[in-house]
Amino acid sequence: MWTRLLGIAMVPLTGMGLVAAPSLSERLAVVDATTATERDVLALNTVLELRFAVTAELVPVETVLRSQAFGITVDQASGFMGFDLVAQMAKTRSAVDAVLAEAPVAAIADTVRRTLGEMRSAVDAGTANLELDLVHRTYKGVTDSLTMESERMLDVIVSAASTTAGRAAGAQVVTQHLVDAYELVRAAISEVEALFRLTILGGDADPTVARVDLIGARTLYRLQLSQLAKSSSDGIRTAIERLEAGEGPATFDAAVDGQVAATKPLSVLQLASTFKASFTRADMLREVTRAATEDATALVHQRRSEARDRLGRDLTLLLVLAIATVGTALLIAWSITRRLRPLAARAQAVSEGDLRGAPADERGPREVTLVARALNQTVATLRHIDAQAATLARGDLDDEILSVPGAGNLGASIHATVQELSKAWREGEELQQRLAHQANHDLLTSLPNRKAALEALEHALARANRHGDAVWVLFCDLDGFKRANDTFGHHIGDRVLRTCAERLAASVRGGDVVARLGGDEFVIITDRLTSAREAAELARRLIDVIGEPIEFDGVSTRVGLSVGIGMSLDGHATALDLLRDADNAVHRAKKLGKGRYEVFDEQARDELALHNELEQALRVALDHDDLRLHYQLVTDTVTGVVQGLEALCRWERDGVPVSPADFIPVAEQSDLINDLGCWALRTATRQLAEWTAEGKFPEAYVAVNVSGRHLLSDGLVDDVRAALDESGLDPRRLVIEITETVIVSDLVTAVAHLEAVRALGVRVALDDFGTGYTSIGQLWRLPIDVLKIDGSFIRHLETAHDHVIVELMIEVAHTLGLGLVAEGVETAAQQDTLRELNCDAIQGFLIARPQPPDRVVTSV
Ligand code: C2E
Ligand code: CA
Ligand code: CA
Repeated sequence: MWTRLLGIAMVPLTGMGLVAAPSLSERLAVVDATTATERDVLALNTVLELRFAVTAELVPVETVLRSQAFGITVDQASGFMGFDLVAQMAKTRSAVDAVLAEAPVAAIADTVRRTLGEMRSAVDAGTANLELDLVHRTYKGVTDSLTMESERMLDVIVSAASTTAGRAAGAQVVTQHLVDAYELVRAAISEVEALFRLTILGGDADPTVARVDLIGARTLYRLQLSQLAKSSSDGIRTAIERLEAGEGPATFDAAVDGQVAATKPLSVLQLASTFKASFTRADMLREVTRAATEDATALVHQRRSEARDRLGRDLTLLLVLAIATVGTALLIAWSITRRLRPLAARAQAVSEGDLRGAPADERGPREVTLVARALNQTVATLRHIDAQAATLARGDLDDEILSVPGAGNLGASIHATVQELSKAWREGEELQQRLAHQANHDLLTSLPNRKAALEALEHALARANRHGDAVWVLFCDLDGFKRANDTFGHHIGDRVLRTCAERLAASVRGGDVVARLGGDEFVIITDRLTSAREAAELARRLIDVIGEPIEFDGVSTRVGLSVGIGMSLDGHATALDLLRDADNAVHRAKKLGKGRYEVFDEQARDELALHNELEQALRVALDHDDLRLHYQLVTDTVTGVVQGLEALCRWERDGVPVSPADFIPVAEQSDLINDLGCWALRTATRQLAEWTAEGKFPEAYVAVNVSGRHLLSDGLVDDVRAALDESGLDPRRLVIEITETVIVSDLVTAVAHLEAVRALGVRVALDDFGTGYTSIGQLWRLPIDVLKIDGSFIRHLETAHDHVIVELMIEVAHTLGLGLVAEGVETAAQQDTLRELNCDAIQGFLIARPQPPDRVVTSV
């Protein structure tokens, strides 16, 4: 296009040269000059166009490369800029190729084509690897060489114009115009370059607007140039015509000058203003675009640094995570190791057979917990097996542990084995027991046989020997068995024997041995009896129970029993001796009339006789009201005021006093003591009621000793109630004294009866405290109101030991809210001490001896 325009411009210029030539040779020279100039101008034009095109090609390439250098893909960059970079690159490339194709200067075109070719293939091959500098340098090299070429051509044109023969002023002026035009073109090219660059790079600039501006500028430029050329050639032609017509300027030069003077300034001004407008616009655009470019670049940089920051953050996070992970792993490893160590030690101990240690700690990481639990489970199973084995070894087949299976498969299979073993064991044992039983037992009655009886007696003697106890043998011989046997036959005889065996066995206490010696002879071996008297009682019971009729299958029969009692008071006798003694005794019993007992030992026999006699006499005394009650004062330790009177039993047998210590135990061995207790309760309450009626001891109580046997009997509460009812005495003025021993022997009954008595309003005193088994700690549980400290402590009050004990008793009694009486106070020193110790009341010979009612003093 440009070429053609310039070509058009050249025609009038050439013509101008021809017209202006004064001579032929001058005119030819002008023609040559203009032809050469025309050619050079054309070439220059092409070079300039090419330079422009190449620069244009660089722009998208550069953009692509630059975005890649920023780490942005071509697609991203295209999206970011709002147009397709690759397409743009292709477009600029084909523009360059089009110019190259028309280029009149083949040499230049070839060079440019070659250089660009290399460049383009490098860009296509891998722009990312391409140095931006290299690209720049290459394109700059191309444009530089084109610029140089254009400069050179301009020089050629200028010099051609100035050195043309004849130097036609017109040609010179035209050349000057061309130079101006070239400057304009160059400026235009720069402008276009800039605009194009902005168009490409400026994301915000509208490429269409820029391109329109550019095209407008170019069009204007071309118009101005053609007008310039036309006005120049027109002016020159007019000048020549006027010259040839002999009018106007005298010479060609003058004609041209005039014409130039008329047109040039205008044209140049026009051009300048045109381009100025274009520049201003471009400046504006450039500014806007530059800002946009900077923003875009900053944005890219920002994104890049953000990416870098993010990367940094991510890396830091990653690092922290890695450290945390490693730390956690180390921690877990450490905690596992730490937990595993005792676990390993425990496992080692278990493997060495130590099952007793504490169970492994089951806390910690999951794996450790699992292992610990498993270990504990295993140990539990092993322990269980161990316990089962021990139980089996002991032969304790009834132990529940044998029926409890251990955990897991091992436990189950061991359990099966254990069951088998215990079954086998049990069977073996049963067999053994049967055999042993047969060897030691009487087949008819299932009682131990003679052999077993002798063995049991030997054991009992050995035990008695160790403990200094007595062993009693009751030889039992049935009376009249032979007759029954003969009358009803062996069958009934056997039944009689079995029945008697059962009755005998039912009459003794657990631990006593009942054996069949053979025939109608049985023996009872016991170490529970404390006196011949008790043995006699037992014998009497046996005689009674055997004497009961025996009835079965419509048959009723009756047998009797004779008992011979043998004893060893210290276990020194032999079993055979003892049995023989008892045998002798039973023979005597039979001889003396059957249905009775005889004691072998003479001394025991005497004692028993004495005892029986005493008991009989006491019974008579009680019946005949020969017993008396004496009363001993209980006084306040500080004030000496009479608080109560203890009733103590007195018996004068044929004018001779018998000590309660002698007759009370006798009475206690039979129900006599209950009668005695009942009598004492009634007598004492009546006495106090009488005294009260007489105005004596209006506040005092009477204390009656109640024996253990009486307390445990069902009659006590009724007896107490009856005594109170009969006497009309206020129940609060009655105290019953009981000893610790009885409470201990049958706590439940004793407590129940005591509570019933207390419910009547009667108080309970614990007698002889300190001599029995009641510990101070047990006191609070007993239903008692008063504590009587036994005289033995008072007697030795001066010893530090007893002093401390009494002090303690007093303190405890006060703590529990119990009343206190110190018994057996005989000296003033004892009284002083008790006063110091804050003992409530005292009783003893120091204050008063037990006295008959008429001798009792009301104050001391
Ligand atoms: P006890 O119940 O501990 O009675 C206190 C005994 O100590 C009485 O002996 C009394 O005379 C005696 N005594 C009192 N003050 C002193 C003293 O200062 N020094 C000394 N050495 N002794 C003192 P007693 O009267 O011979 O009675 C003995 C035991 O016989 C009584 O001990 C009691 O357990 C029992 N007893 C007495 N009368 C009866 C009764 O009617 N029924 C029952 N079941 N037992 C009775
Ligand atoms: Ca007493
Ligand atoms: Ca006492």
